[in-house]
Order: sequence, then structure tokens, then C-alpha cells
Amino acid sequence: MSKYEVIIIGGGPAGLTAGLYTSRAGLKSLLIERGIFGGQIVNARQVDNYPGFPEGISGFELASLMHEQAIKYGLETINATVTAIKPGGNYSVITAEGNFEAEAVIIAAGSEYRKLEVPGEEELLGRGVSYCATCDGFLFRDLDVAVVGGGDTAITDALELSEHASKVYIVHRRDQLRAGQILKNKALAQPKLEPVWNTVVEEIIGDNKVSGLSLRNVKTGKITKLEVAGVFVAVGFEPNSQCFADIVELDETGLIKTDELMATSAPGIFAVGDIRKNSPRQVAGAVGDGATAALSAFKYLRERS
Ligand code: NAP
Repeated sequence: MSKYEVIIIGGGPAGLTAGLYTSRAGLKSLLIERGIFGGQIVNARQVDNYPGFPEGISGFELASLMHEQAIKYGLETINATVTAIKPGGNYSVITAEGNFEAEAVIIAAGSEYRKLEVPGEEELLGRGVSYCATCDGFLFRDLDVAVVGGGDTAITDALELSEHASKVYIVHRRDQLRAGQILKNKALAQPKLEPVWNTVVEEIIGDNKVSGLSLRNVKTGKITKLEVAGVFVAVGFEPNSQCFADIVELDETGLIKTDELMATSAPGIFAVGDIRKNSPRQVAGAVGDGATAALSAFKYLRERS
């Protein structure tokens, strides 16, 4: 079993920053990522709130630069799916592709799109159902689409979709948006956006591709049909923490509990980014978490030896 001083699980901004810092500190470090290096940020067409880029930068480019910078200082990276962390003298990080030994672990595994869990959602995925407006919005030029959700993601998606679609319905289960005021103001000023309040999706309808939504008004119980060619689900995220539930303490929503130094309930295991409780879910926040956890891991290893 290959042995490392630090293993980082997850290659988004939090994990890549942790890897940059541990590698620069001279710690033998491995970063394990199951998908694309960069995590969810690679889907963002433009990131305007990451300091240092006054004109904004594409999420893909930002992620690529972070990856390049981390491996420049010796961070090893592999593609594998972690299934568990086992305790012992050192930790064993179990993956489908082989196991690794680590003195310290930084969990940066992020989160997944939350599903509506309604009929049609899975069946019509990629045929009108999407979780990424930046990736798929251009497919709906001059068509009517719906966004489900009332948070920052839903409104950001709706505004982006309004650049392509002829009409964007915002289907929200309450009569007020959760999104921040600046986004709300922008949404109100965009005539292509139309909220559908107090409404949930009962079914996504379509034979081979989406043709509409069956909607239920939660106040009146009335069922209506909305004709749309696409539906963008933006109802939040679920942390990828299930396989860590045996080793670190989670909160009731599955987020990993940490202290301000990113330490979890298990000695030598740290958690960073969207997977930890109280994360601001921002790239700048993830980067800060990663640096903090790396410094904490360094201190832990020095005190341990
Ligand atoms: P969120 O803030 O958790 O909002 C999720 C939305 O989906 C809420 O409006 C919620 O309704 C609704 N919802 C949840 N489950 C639902 C279900 N089963 N059926 C129907 N509706 C459901 O998630 P988010 O918008 O993805 O944002 C996540 C974090 O990222 C936030 O902290 C946000 O500020 C941040 N973010 C920031 C930006 C930005 O600053 N530009 C952009 C994107 C995300 P209720 O309101 O009724 O709970």
C-alpha cells in the first residue's frame, strides 16, 4: 500500500489549495479525484467574485490554473473513487482502484446536485432535464424553459438562460425567493423571467424529450400543466459524505462538523469546502478552507512525530 503523509480526497478549489500548501510544505501528498479536477466550478462560465481577476475568469480556466499550480510543487494526483477511510495506526484510504495509507487526511469531496425525485427527472436527463444552465442553456435558444428553485443558483441560472431562451419560468415552492438582494433585483428587471409561486413539480412530462411540467400549487392543490422544452433543477446540493459517516461526525444534513481549524471529530482528519458545515459555498471560502486545513495537517504531523 503506497504511503503518504497527507491524502486529499477531492480536487475542487478546496482540495487543490490544500494540496498546493501541503506540497509546498514538503509533505508527501496525494490528491484523489473521481471526476474532473476543478470540481463544480468548471461548469461556471464566468466567476466574478474570486479576488485577483477584476474582469472575471471562466471557472474552467480558474480550475486549470489551480491544478497546474498545485502539481508544479509536487502534488501527486490520481483519478479514483474513495469508498471509505479506515482507522488504524495510520488511516487507510480505500478506493475502487486500490488502497493508500495516510498519516493525515483532508476531505474535500464537495457535494452533488439535489434531485427533485419526481417521475421523468431521471428518464429525461440530458433530454431536456439539466442541472447546469451554463453547460446546456444554449440548447434552448428561443424556447421556453423552467428553472426550479428560489436560491442564488436558481436565479443565476434563470438570468443566464434568459440570454438564450424566449421565456424562463421560475418555479418556486414559496412566494419569496431565497436568493440575495442583488440577484433578486436583476431577476425583477429581466422581462423574460416569470415566477410561478407556491408551486412544486409533480412530474416532468415528455416521451423522448421534455414537453412540459405537471405542477401543483401547494396552497390550493390545483394541478396545472406548463409547456416547456427544458427544465433546470436548482434546488441545492447534497454533501458527498456518506462514505465518511463511520469515521467523522456529520450534522443532520450530512455535512461534516469541523472546528475553525478544519479539524473533524477524528484526529488527523480535516474537512474543507462545500462538504463541511457552515461553508460559505464560495470559491474564495473553499480556498481559505484548503489553506487552513493544510496548515493544521502540517501542525498535526509535526506534533505527532
Ligand atoms: P439553496 O440556497 O439551498 O437554495 C435551494 C432552493 O431550492 C431554495 O429556494 C429551496 O426552497 C429550493 N428547494 C430545495 N429543495 C427543494 C425541493 N425538493 N423542491 C423544490 N424546491 C426545493 O441552494 P443554491 O441556490 O444552490 O445555493 C447554494 C449556496 O451557494 C448558497 O449559499 C448560495 O448563496 C451559494 N451560491 C451563490 C451564488 C452567487 O453568489 N452568485 C450563486 C450560486 C450559489 P426554500 O427557499 O423554500 O428552502
